[in-house]
Amino acid sequence: MTNGKITKEKAKLPLEDLNREEAPEASRVGAPSENVLRPRKLQDYIGQAAAKGKLTVFMEAARGRGETLDHVLLSGPPGLGKTTLAHIVAEEMGGRLHLAPGPSLEKSVDLLAILTNLQPGDVLFIDEIHRLGRAIEETLYPAMEDFQIQLVLGKEVGAQAVTVPLPRFTLVGATTQSGRLQAPFRDRFGISLNLDFYDLGEMKAILRRSAKLLGISLEEEQIEAVASRSRGTPRIANRLLARVRDVLEVKRSRGAGGVGAQAVHEALDFLDIDKVGLQPLDRRYLQILCENFRGGPAGVEALAASLSEDRSTLEETVEPYLLKEGFLLRTPKGRIATDKVYSHLGLRAPEATREDPLLF
Ligand code: ADP
Repeated sequence: MTNGKITKEKAKLPLEDLNREEAPEASRVGAPSENVLRPRKLQDYIGQAAAKGKLTVFMEAARGRGETLDHVLLSGPPGLGKTTLAHIVAEEMGGRLHLAPGPSLEKSVDLLAILTNLQPGDVLFIDEIHRLGRAIEETLYPAMEDFQIQLVLGKEVGAQAVTVPLPRFTLVGATTQSGRLQAPFRDRFGISLNLDFYDLGEMKAILRRSAKLLGISLEEEQIEAVASRSRGTPRIANRLLARVRDVLEVKRSRGAGGVGAQAVHEALDFLDIDKVGLQPLDRRYLQILCENFRGGPAGVEALAASLSEDRSTLEETVEPYLLKEGFLLRTPKGRIATDKVYSHLGLRAPEATREDPLLF
């Protein structure tokens, strides 16, 4: 290292993790800080005032009647706190939480094993519920509505339909794509809550709490620097916090530690997180849209092929924030880059404005 500068190779930081931050729930189980940082009570859950307000009332009402909470559908981009809310519902309603990632439920029999294991008041959390197969979804209908399931015992002429009663439980379903849920399935959730990106003040509060729990000492302006590049997403904020700590510690141990917000901004630059929180995949997406597709409109499949990424990764993890920040427009003809992209990436905008979908 020279002049206090560290290179990615020397620091050996897990940069890939940052760039692909939305690992499926199953592979997130091992993330050591995730469980430490997860708020267990609704009062520790920061932000999402609308969802929290409704949930508080519905839980209080159910508790007052001595009933289980109605089924809850949570929708919103990854990392905003859907799993955390499922934990909180179980904790506050006094039930056990059973986690079932949607894609791993392939056969009805997998679901039956989980359902028949439930006890009264338990909470069953199914992540990525829009990925459930039709057969599983249909097994869930009577379980959700009448707390019973139908089993067919035996084969052919000897087959017998048996109804198995289930204890009253709460199904909490999480989805990043609520539009993909069939209407009859969606309608079976008595409570539907939408989570949105967090504002700067909320992100700072989340980071202050996380820093305290992890014993990381940061000044207020350093907290703000991390918050401002965290894409309004607690999971990303927590991850950046851990990586910024790594960078600052290594720099300090090499006698090159900076101070204040500037040191944190430099660490975030080093981590390839830009001023507005865009990560390499976000920037590659925008760059390809501008350069290969002349700013669009471009179909998501074509973009996914050019980026060698899954369509669902783009739709569920990349696009929501770009749309929210006004970098992208979604039109029936495809995705269109706004003028903001050109100035942000330092590219020359094409002559005709691509923002007007009527032009195409
Ligand atoms: P999702 O299920 O929507 O992908 P999670 O519930 O797993 O997101 O949240 C990711 C992490 O972000 C959690 O471990 C938790 O530490 C943190 N987090 C999420 N929402 C909040 C919140 N409202 N307040 C504090 N921390 C939060």
